[in-house]
Amino acid sequence: MTSAENEVVDLCRDLIRIDTSNYGNDPGPGERKAAEYVAEQLDEVGISSEIYESEHGRASVVAQWGGSSGDGLLLHGHLDVVPAAAEDWRIDPFSGEIQDGYVWGRGAVDMKDFDAMLLAVVRERQRTGRIPERPITLAFTADEEAGGMKGAHVLVEDHPDLLAHCTEAVGEVGGFSTTVRGKRLYLIEAAEKGMAWMKLTARGTAGHGSMINRDNPITRLSGAIARIGAHEWPVQLTPTMQTLLAAVGEIAGEEPTPENAERLVEEFGPAARMIGATLRNVTNPTMTSAGYKVNVIPTEATAHVDGRFLPGFEDDFFETLRKLCGEGIDIEFDQNQMPWETPYDGALVAAMERSLIAEDPDALVAPYLMSAGTDAKHFKRLGMRTYGFAPLRLPEELDFTALFHGVDERVPVDALQFGARVMDRFLDQV
Ligand SMILES: [Zn+2]
Repeated sequence: MTSAENEVVDLCRDLIRIDTSNYGNDPGPGERKAAEYVAEQLDEVGISSEIYESEHGRASVVAQWGGSSGDGLLLHGHLDVVPAAAEDWRIDPFSGEIQDGYVWGRGAVDMKDFDAMLLAVVRERQRTGRIPERPITLAFTADEEAGGMKGAHVLVEDHPDLLAHCTEAVGEVGGFSTTVRGKRLYLIEAAEKGMAWMKLTARGTAGHGSMINRDNPITRLSGAIARIGAHEWPVQLTPTMQTLLAAVGEIAGEEPTPENAERLVEEFGPAARMIGATLRNVTNPTMTSAGYKVNVIPTEATAHVDGRFLPGFEDDFFETLRKLCGEGIDIEFDQNQMPWETPYDGALVAAMERSLIAEDPDALVAPYLMSAGTDAKHFKRLGMRTYGFAPLRLPEELDFTALFHGVDERVPVDALQFGARVMDRFLDQV
């Protein structure tokens, strides 16, 4: 066993034991500590790094590694995690314990597993002089779980010089295996949905609840959110999803079409929960507020809608949404993050595919579209081709996607070691 395969497990456990819960604006206890830990691990093998703090405790680490031949490659992982309610867990979520062949704890799959893989492989290659010729930038960020505004966003906005030479980036959430009809299919993230968190406001004429009122803002707003909530968004297949469904269709012996797309996605078993959400736009009303007394018509009513939309269908999404709202509704955006899609081609994709297949020769590899956002959306703004590739070979019976932000988050020890081997092969080829 290589030293990276040995180290990856301990590094992952150490990182889990540093509680980096992200409570949004409230600085959690551990992001700074985790950043210092990463900097120490790099320093120990002679790689210097810099810690960038956007606010007290909100620390990200960046190191420049590799040679000077060609364009830079960014390898990035976030250090923060979502909080965990310990009483719901079988094991203390910040213990990093090993049980039943798994490393347990918050961050085990999102994404201290990949942070540990990167560190283990970079440390081993540095120690043995196997340093890639291509310039490699390593970034371990704060605040991804709350949108990255105090992490990746700050690196992109305030320190673009650190990343200026990078044309490609690799981070989460991809490279894990799914099982379709007994065949392992690895999914590389090549696209993410956009996110529109919207506040809808209807204004009307206040008055007595006993009288006729044709300008009641609650009536108008209710119509809008009922239409939005009930709208059946059509299946729209982006290039990424067309390629994915072609791979699934091949295993299932069916030509993929928009009509059978949903059925084909069911072939993924539990992973269909996430993948199924990427066949179409989604809009869900999530909060409403209006009024203060039963016999008073208020002047204003508000509602919030969580909208997730496909890359390439942005205009269609916002036009349809405005139509569904109808007249007299103002839309404001609490968040409006654009979706992205990187063509699934080129040397980097080939390197990811080859390194997976070298470790799992019978498997297939395909791109997929992620239903939520990652730090990639920030790095994308600098024009990088971004992908999600944190390789894990997973047992068929594990409901992997449920572990993200879930209870009893855990990662198989042998999957961590597999990931370290694949990343090592990947770095041979970049
Ligand atoms: Zn994550």
